[in-house]
Amino acid sequence: MACYQKTLRLSTHQPNEVQDITAQVQQVVAASGVTQGLCAIYTPHATAAIAINENADPAIGTDLLAALRKLIRDHDGWLHDRIDDNAAAHIKSALVGPSETVPIAQGKLLLGTWQNVFFCEFDGPRAERRVIVTVMG
Ligand code: ZN
Repeated sequence: MACYQKTLRLSTHQPNEVQDITAQVQQVVAASGVTQGLCAIYTPHATAAIAINENADPAIGTDLLAALRKLIRDHDGWLHDRIDDNAAAHIKSALVGPSETVPIAQGKLLLGTWQNVFFCEFDGPRAERRVIVTVMG
């Protein structure tokens, strides 16, 4: 089995933000030469996450952030806020999760028509966030 890995670096501009990284991930898959296999997309940050959902209507990313903000309110008595005041960001990251795995066929991510890969920032802005893309085939 071949394994190819690349780290994407991106910067974020808002406290809470989603960025569509589908094109960058697909570029890594193309560079790997793998035609059939799996692509793991992982972010090594405790206040960020990876999600797959629709970006044809960018309002869905905005709605996702709004829903999380309603569910997990800032400064709502969280214990970790005493340490560095970002407990809500950690909880959002834990719920959405740090990774997604997508099958690859004919050298392409097998995403559905309405699926895109999102990097989710919950404690921005940050000058550099990393996403590790591992292609196995
Ligand atoms: Zn913290």
